[in-house]
Amino acid sequence: MREFIEKTPLDAWIKQQRTSEKKIAFVPTMGNLHEGHLRLVDEAKASSDVVVVSIFVNPMQFGPSEDFQVYPRTLESDRQKLWDRGVDALFTPMAEFLYKRDLVDHAFVSVPKLSEDLCGKFRPGHFNGVCTVVLKLLNLVRPDVLVMGEKDLQQIRIIEQMICDLNLSVVLKGVAIVRESDGLALSSRNQYLALEERQLAPTLFQTLHEMKKTIQSGEKNYAALCEKAALFLKNKGFNPDYIEVRRAQDLKIPSSAEDKALVVLAAAYLGKTRLIDNLFI
Ligand code: AMP
Repeated sequence: MREFIEKTPLDAWIKQQRTSEKKIAFVPTMGNLHEGHLRLVDEAKASSDVVVVSIFVNPMQFGPSEDFQVYPRTLESDRQKLWDRGVDALFTPMAEFLYKRDLVDHAFVSVPKLSEDLCGKFRPGHFNGVCTVVLKLLNLVRPDVLVMGEKDLQQIRIIEQMICDLNLSVVLKGVAIVRESDGLALSSRNQYLALEERQLAPTLFQTLHEMKKTIQSGEKNYAALCEKAALFLKNKGFNPDYIEVRRAQDLKIPSSAEDKALVVLAAAYLGKTRLIDNLFI
């Protein structure tokens, strides 16, 4: 596995791959890799000749009171996992290289409306940070295929729109959520959970699952269903930011009984840990 920190050697290597007509797939991550990330690597390998993974904890996507400073950084074990999974190149850029000026003065990419909805309502500026870093990384790696996880479904929909609106020529592939055996979606933030919180955490997925069953059996009053689910989670000890039923394809509010491809999405705090999850219906 090749490892790059600087632009020039990465450029040279990418050029080499392009000259030999290799198809490049790219998996951007913030590290602290788990099986969810590694499934993206598997998908990347299946859809290309060479796989590039980046590890970069992106300061632009964290709010001032969020966990940027304490976000788990585990480069040694991440490197081993990527090596074991057969990744071709690891890119670990320095913050000073990606952001050459103060974030307040820095150019950014913004996908309007959807970026202010759902998680964006509670994490102002988060998706501008995500779009900006993903575009930077796409410019540096110039992949044919970009692989991202459906765990962050809103992120996928926003990046899809950025790719379309800015005429980028990369193809985005989404990978289904990887879960623990009790249903909890794998996340680097799960390790913040105290023991009792960890035991309670799968209740979020179970609630989404119950909502899915209710909708499948004919329930159309989504607002009432979401309200009931939020109250249930509150009583269990969660502090929900939102629980919403949306159209799967664009995350807009379902407008009529014809909207059949739906998804239920939720974000909720358990203690200080913010969990997100979603389930297609
Ligand atoms: P992160 O390191 O949290 O920024 O995640 C990097 C990529 O891994 C994103 O595209 C995430 O959606 C994806 N990812 C994280 N957790 C999971 C999971 N449990 N299942 C599938 N993909 C995931």
